[in-house]
Amino acid sequence: MAPDIVIIGSGIGGATIASGLAGSGANILILERGEPLPATPHARDSRAIFRDGHYRPKEMWREADGAPFNPGNYYYVGGNSKFYGAVLIRYRREDFSAMEHFGGVSPAWPFSYEEFEPWYSKAEQLFRVRGALGEDPTEPFHSQPYAFPPVPDEAPIARARAELKTLGLHPASLPLGVDIDAWLKAGKTPWDAFPNTGTGKVDAQTGPLAAALVDENITLETGAHVDYLELSPDGKAIASIHYTKNGEAKKLSPKLVILSAGAINSAAVLLRSPAPNGKGLANSSDQVGRNFMNHNSSAMLAIDPRRRNDSVYQKTLMLNDYYLSDGKGGKPLGNVQLLGKIDGNILKSNVKRAPKLALDFMAGHAVDWYLMCEDLPDPESRIMVDGKGIVMQWRRSNMQSLEGLTKVMRENFRACGYPIVLSRPFDKRTPSHQCGTVKMGDNPTTSPLDPFCRSFDHRNLFVVDGGFLPNSAAVNPALSIAAQALRVADHIRRTEFST
Ligand SMILES: Cc1cc2nc3c(=O)[nH]c(=O)nc-3n(C[C@H](O)[C@H](O)[C@H](O)COP(=O)(O)OP(=O)(O)OC[C@H]3O[C@@H](n4cnc5c(N)ncnc54)[C@H](O)[C@@H]3O)c2cc1C
Repeated sequence: MAPDIVIIGSGIGGATIASGLAGSGANILILERGEPLPATPHARDSRAIFRDGHYRPKEMWREADGAPFNPGNYYYVGGNSKFYGAVLIRYRREDFSAMEHFGGVSPAWPFSYEEFEPWYSKAEQLFRVRGALGEDPTEPFHSQPYAFPPVPDEAPIARARAELKTLGLHPASLPLGVDIDAWLKAGKTPWDAFPNTGTGKVDAQTGPLAAALVDENITLETGAHVDYLELSPDGKAIASIHYTKNGEAKKLSPKLVILSAGAINSAAVLLRSPAPNGKGLANSSDQVGRNFMNHNSSAMLAIDPRRRNDSVYQKTLMLNDYYLSDGKGGKPLGNVQLLGKIDGNILKSNVKRAPKLALDFMAGHAVDWYLMCEDLPDPESRIMVDGKGIVMQWRRSNMQSLEGLTKVMRENFRACGYPIVLSRPFDKRTPSHQCGTVKMGDNPTTSPLDPFCRSFDHRNLFVVDGGFLPNSAAVNPALSIAAQALRVADHIRRTEFST
């Protein structure tokens, strides 16, 4: 018998909506192209991860000008969240309204922060987020406090927090889905970009998927690569899902389809699916694949050759003093947060010609930051398909914000006593914060999805992953994807499977 619902992808969107549908009585199958991450020593070996690319996919994507590249996009049970930094932060209240940036206007969401707020609280509980309220000047209203205290600063980071405060800034604890004792028990390494093979990070697999699979009506099929969707003869619904498992072509015809393959792959599945207009499915608006965003971000190393940074994990602070304005009453710049502690292997993977010894010294004396600025939607910034291949045409926007944030933070770190401040932008091979390619909105002529992520064109299709985000804001996306997945699950329960 066909399942009632098939969810495609077990990442943040797919796993979280599965957990929201648990107990509904619906028979649900999750199709995931990857396999569970094996617990091997590579998982805590920075050389294997960063220099040897042990976990990177075998596939190549290509840029619109034809240059091929191997993307940092991960296909395992739990998706990209297996590698994430576990920063589970809410968009700021202002991100839900249109906001003027240096490079143009960031569009509004189709509903307010106030309407969405309860879903943020539920997502924070599901991902067991650790944090502290009242430290960050941009913090939006929380109806519930964090259930756990923040992950503690290590000594060099406590010092960095104090130094930033002396400049009149407001460093705040990062909200994190990390059980620090469980993480460190399995190895003394950072968690950011390291795969989670235990329970140290609350990711899509260890959080919502584990909760969903308690329901015996929900099952997970791995190694199941969805190739395309097939329309019903009247074009109004998805009739079937076509996928490949162990080289064998398979087909399923559920009542509802929830596509959660990640912003890039969900767009690719829709664009590859046959449609009468030749533009792919759910695409009468011609927006599928367009408005691709991925944050403009840089790594910034604040180095003091006289002081070692002996932190193991480091990633416990953020700074939002330049989030809503450049600090002088001008337009927004972005968010600053710590990276996981960088080591010589991680630097070597980026600066191949530099001697490893020099890189080890540099890493050992640096506090490593991540500067993140909003990328604005542009229809010409887009994901396209070429047969089975993925083509990325990323038109970056709003780079003035990144330039401004880089300048002001370099000045701040120098004022804190770090004589050397180096920065380097992240490149296109790293689509970590991919979003916007199947956006939600009120108007079917400009958005493929309605505000509950349901396709305007095919009413039994939902797209629930980073693709629905109408703007990228300048904070990490996972908590917003999870909160919306819970909201959509509630909508499906009420409209399709009322219990
Ligand atoms: C190194 C790194 C660090 C990050 N740090 C953070 C952070 O600290 N905080 C934060 O908020 N975000 C972070 N992110 C981003 C975060 O991981 C993503 O925003 C989030 O995982 C996106 O969820 P998703 O559901 O859209 O897609 P994913 O989580 O990527 O899930 C998509 C799933 O679909 C599967 N899939 C894809 N195609 C198919 C197909 N054709 N058939 C079947 N299955 C398919 C994939 O294997 C995957 O499991 C980070 C990402 C990376 C890579």
